[in-house]
Amino acid sequence: MKICVIHTGGTIGMVASARGFTPGAGVVEAELDRLHRAGEITADYDVITADPLIDSADAAPKDWNWMMAQIAGAAARYDGFVLTHGTDTLAFTAAALAFGLVGLQQPVILTGAMLPLTEKGSDGTANLRDAFVAAQTAPAGVWVQFAGQLLHGARVRKSHSLAFDAFRASPSDAAPLRAGPELRVQPYSAVSALIAAVAPGMNADLVALAAERAEGVVLRVYGSGTVPEGLGLRRAMQQARDSGVPVLAVSQCAEGGISIGTYSAGAMLADTGAIDGRDMTVEAAYAKLLHALSVTGDAEARRQLLQTRLCGEWAE
Ligand code: ASP
Repeated sequence: MKICVIHTGGTIGMVASARGFTPGAGVVEAELDRLHRAGEITADYDVITADPLIDSADAAPKDWNWMMAQIAGAAARYDGFVLTHGTDTLAFTAAALAFGLVGLQQPVILTGAMLPLTEKGSDGTANLRDAFVAAQTAPAGVWVQFAGQLLHGARVRKSHSLAFDAFRASPSDAAPLRAGPELRVQPYSAVSALIAAVAPGMNADLVALAAERAEGVVLRVYGSGTVPEGLGLRRAMQQARDSGVPVLAVSQCAEGGISIGTYSAGAMLADTGAIDGRDMTVEAAYAKLLHALSVTGDAEARRQLLQTRLCGEWAE
């Protein structure tokens, strides 16, 4: 078994500095070497290191493209991938890779740490070790290995900002994989999309502005799919629809998802052609929106794509 490690940055490989934790060169590589020598990692591996290493707060679609290009370039030579990443936007990256890598034949395991390997008691060692096991045994697809759990890459969310056990994923009946005969990367373009949330007393003009300026909007609605009735929001949503700007609705609740039509207070979503994001995480919704905006310029094709389950991102 041969594993390719792609180290992008994040807490796992950070060192203390006067300004707080910052990426440090060679930290992850040294720990992998130690684990390999100790027999705790048995597979052979190579490491590809991003330059520069980043805090995942700075991760952008161009970084997803870089990661996907590394995976595609190495796919023929490895049995699995371990991708080390900061935890803050790890769920966005996992979803983005799940949508963008079509026909993946191996497991891609994202992991990281809440405490750097350079600090006593770091969770990074166990996560690395577990990620290697998952890279050798998990089914093909994009997964997150964290705090002893293997989680669906298109269903995962960061649910705790401090605890080692920081990620959750609702179950899915489908693997985080877009099947295909061979690996094909669908890169992300520089598109402008926004995550907006409804809130009591919100100024709907801001949604109208988003509909004017953005190519797509993820709208975080209340509970099981309600929005405040009011001419302003309705007009903004109609404006988005008329100019072919997809509005993908997801719940502000972390679990359960939306069911448009349950309440009359949600009828506006159906009336204005909002796309039902069901129980997608906001991270998966945003990545999927960017995916749809990147792969086609045709408004109807974008809509179709957003209405199709691609890799188990919602429960059926
Ligand atoms: N801010 C860090 C990052 O996302 C946090 C972490 O890695 O856990 O890169």
